Amino acid sequence: MTTAGKRTLIAGGTVATDTVVLAADVMIQGGRIAALTEPGAGGRADELIDATGLFVLPGAIDMHAHFEDPGHTEREDFTTGTMSAAAGGITTVIEHPLTYPPVTTVELYREKRELARRKVVVDFALWGALTAPSIPAIAGQWAEGAMGFKAFMPVSDPSYPHVTDAEFLDGMREVKAVGGLVLVHAESDSLLQAGIARLRAAGRTDALAHHESRPAFVEEEAVHRALYLAAHAGVRIQIVHVSSPVSADLVRDEKRAGRPATMEICPHHLLLDLDDLVRLGPYGVCAPALRERPLVERLWDSVRDGTADCLVSDHAASTYAEKDAGYDDIFLSPLGCQVIQETVPLVLDEAFHRRGLPLDAFVRFSSTNAARISGTYPRKGTLLPGADADIALYDLEREWVVDARSQQFSKNPWSPFDGRRARASVVRTLVRGETVYAGGEILAQPGSGRFLSCHDDSSLGGGSPSG
Ligand SMILES: [Zn+2]
Repeated sequence: MTTAGKRTLIAGGTVATDTVVLAADVMIQGGRIAALTEPGAGGRADELIDATGLFVLPGAIDMHAHFEDPGHTEREDFTTGTMSAAAGGITTVIEHPLTYPPVTTVELYREKRELARRKVVVDFALWGALTAPSIPAIAGQWAEGAMGFKAFMPVSDPSYPHVTDAEFLDGMREVKAVGGLVLVHAESDSLLQAGIARLRAAGRTDALAHHESRPAFVEEEAVHRALYLAAHAGVRIQIVHVSSPVSADLVRDEKRAGRPATMEICPHHLLLDLDDLVRLGPYGVCAPALRERPLVERLWDSVRDGTADCLVSDHAASTYAEKDAGYDDIFLSPLGCQVIQETVPLVLDEAFHRRGLPLDAFVRFSSTNAARISGTYPRKGTLLPGADADIALYDLEREWVVDARSQQFSKNPWSPFDGRRARASVVRTLVRGETVYAGGEILAQPGSGRFLSCHDDSSLGGGSPSG
């Protein structure tokens, strides 16, 4: 496919960038933003997209997704995962190394990248692994395109080695040496294992036992320790899927001290609470767990004041059979929620309509900050001329109701948000100027997405080989 000269005009919409919201037309040429112009002043185009009554935002960047590919493609794969992403207004996904086997060597990283390249319908990147056995592979994975490296402080999935504090610090020093980002799942393993043992010994198998085994302080203690170690190593660190406002306070303190600490939040931690965990049972099981309503309310403060850098899905797909096992014993439920398709529209609905977050702040939260942190700005995360024309069009008035089975492109459609009403819907998604989703359908072919890295970007310089 060549888009070298093609001109596409998105006309009549309201454009929201990371700094301003205004009535403007967007001219795209050759897959890049050519100009934002006064309405009606855009000139001749090969394709005209009527955005009257719609909002035009940079495509969202999801820095945290699990597509289970390779290894468990009965749950999801790079095609169904990125189709769901596209239908949810996401134009770049950064996928995590917890696949099977975990991506702990340079060879495994390369193989996964080449496998994914043939399957994706949006642009993608892959995080590398920060585990004790893979510390010697960090420099090699960085050279292959990994912008950051994921560590687990607790045992989460037994197949992925978690780190002791000493291993974590060693890994941080290695990541610092290459200039990368450390990403960490912060829960205290010791507190967590003790909590699970205590609840099991008491014979608890109900949904709330999942929360009680890993209350907020289990996360907060680990966030505190991770930030302390990162400050010691002088490395950039991102706390993934923050669920507690106390954790957000700790990140805010680091930022105020001038240290490069950042954080992500998932839609389920912003929109659901313990009542939902009880209602959803295993389909509300994630790690960290859903929280009490007062904590959820306080977590929104971090979104409002910009402490929370990135909205992410932490999309974790499971089959119905795997999740259903948790109805008898909640500890048998796999961890994680399948949310990539609803993440952006539902949080946009809540943030814009109910909590008064300005659209430019939402753009930073859903896109621009992720591009800056991953090192892909200004190619991604902005509508500045020269950027990739990754764009999502939203209707912020039409009401819809989440119904995963009739809406999701995921392999086993389910959502903890089933039945939720929203007034923000994705009308159309474009990746590099080409429409990949519109009218409820995916219009792109698997393999149309491109691999991204911050330093060896194969989407740069159109004629370069794809290898
Ligand atoms: Zn995750």
